[in-house]
Amino acid sequence: MHSFRYVDGSLKCEGVDLEKLASEVGTPAYVYSAETIRGNYRRLDEALAPLGDRMICYAMKANGNLSVLNLLAKEGAGFDIVSGGELFKVLKAGGRADRCTFAGVGKTAAEIEYALRQGIYSFNVESEEELEMINAVAAKAGLVAPIAIRVNPDVDAPTHKYISTGKSKNKFGIGLDRAAAVYERAASLPNLKIRGLQTHIGSQILKAPPFAEAVRKLTPLVLELKAKYGLEFFSVGGGVGIVYRGALSSGDAAWWKGSGENGEGDRLAPETYAAEVIEPLKALGLRILFEPGRFIVGNAGVLLTSVLYRKSTPTKNFVIVDAGMNDLIRPALYEGYHEIEPLKQPSSTDLERVDVVGPVCESGDFFAQDREVPVLVPGDRIALMSAGAYGFVMASTYNARPLLPEVLVEGDKATIVRARQTWDDLLLGERLPT
Ligand SMILES: *Cc1c(COP(=O)(O)O)cnc(C)c1O
Repeated sequence: MHSFRYVDGSLKCEGVDLEKLASEVGTPAYVYSAETIRGNYRRLDEALAPLGDRMICYAMKANGNLSVLNLLAKEGAGFDIVSGGELFKVLKAGGRADRCTFAGVGKTAAEIEYALRQGIYSFNVESEEELEMINAVAAKAGLVAPIAIRVNPDVDAPTHKYISTGKSKNKFGIGLDRAAAVYERAASLPNLKIRGLQTHIGSQILKAPPFAEAVRKLTPLVLELKAKYGLEFFSVGGGVGIVYRGALSSGDAAWWKGSGENGEGDRLAPETYAAEVIEPLKALGLRILFEPGRFIVGNAGVLLTSVLYRKSTPTKNFVIVDAGMNDLIRPALYEGYHEIEPLKQPSSTDLERVDVVGPVCESGDFFAQDREVPVLVPGDRIALMSAGAYGFVMASTYNARPLLPEVLVEGDKATIVRARQTWDDLLLGERLPT
């Protein structure tokens, strides 16, 4: 599932030695494996092949690096976008607008007009007011907007409360009880063309049955709408989870933990997911769209960081590193877990219980709490594993910390596909009042 492994005591990404790379580009830095991204995409696509007419629209909010988008566009991926800026980036990366779906609860009129003029495949509509807005914008532009309505199936998917979206208490989509009426309204608006129905139950879901349950719950509605309005597609959304614990697969477990330790992170294999959803999806007789984000890129990226200091209090040992929550916010935001792997395997197998923290002035600035890790000393470099999704894209310059570089590895070749920001970059667009 990914291309990070130890070879002779050194952590490698494909053919590239990460310690050597870190000394060249500096730390902190994000590193992505092209082989892993491509492999994940192909494996999912192959698992879903029995469906026939299908389109994988990569949810680029997970990782919007231009080179990552370009790589996936070349694989034939479509894109699930959530802003005008994302569509702009897709087009710059060589993606096609007519393979893009536009999601999100707060599309502005300007974004709608831009996406409409570029010819996107579908607006995935999240409210009745948005429907009216899209119709108005399309009428003004003399165009017809293709739409799908995001229907909330009210299924419970086991995941963190901040990334669950398929329950009726979430802000996303339109309730199953209202959906038919909203489609009727859509059909009456002259500048809309009903193209599909979309759903998305949440993120980092590690069990396949909730996806199938959502499809089954929506099936009667979908068939009714298909008969009435000639639906063309059904989108089952994204959300396929990945392994965060024991994510290093030299024998599928972190080398220093022994074998078998896989924590809560038993992965949802694409084949398992496909086996569960194919039958109910096939029964719809429509083109099927998938919107995976994390599954494609999550395990394909790491964040390299260096140990700066050690510090002890009567109750805790801290390891202070040069990356911060502004670079990778998942632990602070969702209690996200990232394995910690030294770039050079230490000679001792001793472990110590520490908090790994960053330099940012917030108590939430940590990467691990009370975690047993190999003994780390200043100058050691480590990888925070599985940082390819919702990593760099959520970064900020909080504490006036420049944005990190991103490196794309392909075989033996490492390319800096985004330069590290400089202090001068921090001033971009700012000016003093005259
Ligand atoms: C976030 C999101 C996705 C992608 O979710 P992942 O968990 O990264 O697969 C797909 N579709 C929609 C509508 C989303 O909001």
